[in-house]
Amino acid sequence: MRILRVSFFVCVFCLLLAGVACASSAPKTFDGAHAYQTYLIAQMNLGARPAGSAAGRATGDYILAQLKDAQWKTETQEFTFRNVPVRNVVGKNGEGRGPVIILGAHYDTRPRADQDKANPTAPVPGANDGASGVAVLLELARTLDVSKLKNEVWLAFFDAEDNGDLSGCVVAPPPCDNAPWHWSVGAEYFAAKLPVKPEFVVVVDMIGDADQNIYYERNSDPQLQQQLWEIAARLGFGKQFIAQPKWSMSDDHTPFLQRGIRAIDIIDFDYPYWHTTQDTADKVSGDSLERVGKVLQTWLENR
Ligand SMILES: [Zn+2]
Repeated sequence: MRILRVSFFVCVFCLLLAGVACASSAPKTFDGAHAYQTYLIAQMNLGARPAGSAAGRATGDYILAQLKDAQWKTETQEFTFRNVPVRNVVGKNGEGRGPVIILGAHYDTRPRADQDKANPTAPVPGANDGASGVAVLLELARTLDVSKLKNEVWLAFFDAEDNGDLSGCVVAPPPCDNAPWHWSVGAEYFAAKLPVKPEFVVVVDMIGDADQNIYYERNSDPQLQQQLWEIAARLGFGKQFIAQPKWSMSDDHTPFLQRGIRAIDIIDFDYPYWHTTQDTADKVSGDSLERVGKVLQTWLENR
C-alpha cells in the first residue's frame, strides 16, 4: 500500500513534469475561438467600457492580469485629460531582440451610440469597436513564440480613443465644458511620451466583423500594408484582406504618423453597427479574429 502510494505520487510527478515540458515547448498558434470565447466575452461581460468609468478601469485591470499570466512585462501610463482619468496599458516582451514594434488597440468604448437612430444616448456595447482588437492582442500575448522574434514587441492598449466629437459634458462629470473631445487621446499621449522610435506601429480596430472586409486604409504606410496583405493572401485570407484602398481614417495610428513613425491601421470600416447599440458579440466571429491574429503572428515570427 505504501509502495503503491509512492509510485502513484512518482507517476503524478512525472505526468506533471511531462505536461510542463510539453506546454513550454509546443508551438502555439493563434486560436480565434479562444480569443472570442475568453477575451472578447470577458470584456463584454463588463458592460459598456468608456474611458474613466468603473468598467473601463476593470477592463484595464483585466488586460493587465492576462498579460502577466502570459509572462509579459507590464506598464501603465496614467493621466487626467479634461477631468477624465485615462490609463494606457502596455505589455512588453522580447527585450533586446531588435527594434521595437508596437501593436496597438483601443480598449475604451464610445459612451454614446450617436449613429443609432433609436437609441442615440445609450452607450455602445463595443464588441467590434473596442473588444475585438483587444482580444486579438491578448491572444497574441498568449501564443507568440518570443524565441522567434527579431524585434522587441510592445502590445499597447489605448484608452480614450472613442470620445471623438462628443461634448465634454457627455464624456466628463462636472465641472465640464461643451467643447468637443478629440479622438485617440490615449494614443496621442503615448506617442508624445515614446522613449524610443519604434520601427513600426500596427493598430487593429474593428477587425472582428463576421462579414470581414479589410481594405487598405489610405493614411497608412503603403509598404508595410502591402507586406501584411501579402502574408494574408499566402495564408488564404485574400477574400477578407482586400489589397485596394477604400477608407481614410483618423485612428490610433494617426499620432504616430504625425511623428514620422511608419504606422498602419488594420480596420474594417464596412460595419453597419458602427457606433450603434447593435455592436454586440453576435456580430463578431472567432474566424475573423483568427485571420488578423495569424497575419500578425506570421509577420512577427518570420521577419
Ligand atoms: Zn469607435
